[in-house]
Amino acid sequence: MCASCPLCGGRMEMKMAEVQVSYRSYTKTIKVNAYICQKCGERIYTPEAEAKIRQVEEEMRSADQYFE
Ligand SMILES: [Zn+2]
Repeated sequence: MCASCPLCGGRMEMKMAEVQVSYRSYTKTIKVNAYICQKCGERIYTPEAEAKIRQVEEEMRSADQYFE
């Protein structure tokens, strides 16, 4: 994927992006690869990044069970 930004048409570059994953009162910051618009800052996550985010959400969800 060599993308231009869907919002402004700017050039998007693959970079490490910090993502805050939150579940209830918990927030965790992880780093994933994402295409980031050089103009407006719009982010598009790679499929790998999305999978990683979902995995962290799952982990937080299962960790949460210990507090109930
Ligand atoms: Zn843009």
